[in-house]
Amino acid sequence: MNCPLCNAQNEDIIYENTLFRIVLVDEIPGYIRVITQKHIKEFSELSDDEAVEIITAVKKTEKAMIEFLKPDKINIASLGNMVPHLHIHMIPRYENDPWWPGATFCEKQREYSYPPFDEKKYKEAIKSCF
Ligand SMILES: [Zn+2]
Repeated sequence: MNCPLCNAQNEDIIYENTLFRIVLVDEIPGYIRVITQKHIKEFSELSDDEAVEIITAVKKTEKAMIEFLKPDKINIASLGNMVPHLHIHMIPRYENDPWWPGATFCEKQREYSYPPFDEKKYKEAIKSCF
């Protein structure tokens, strides 16, 4: 199968178990993806227990992101139109970031310097939730 998430290499994995992995994405500072380990397309393909486990992981991760980064908002999205392998984007948003108040796939409205953060400590903070 030619799936970029099944065949991913060099991912910056913060935490993983048999159900999902949490990956730091370098496109936006603090950007995280939660990716199922198995190739499924829709959230409803998970068992109830798996769904609860993943949404709980998203909740824990969001809490750590808020505490560590102090963003104005966390955006959570699951699209999968281009990569039909279940993954959840978790993006810290700031009121003056390049896309605010639009989604980060919209056109940039302005330049912005993201607040500096210690990536190693950030990853430790997220990992410590599990
Ligand atoms: Zn896949």
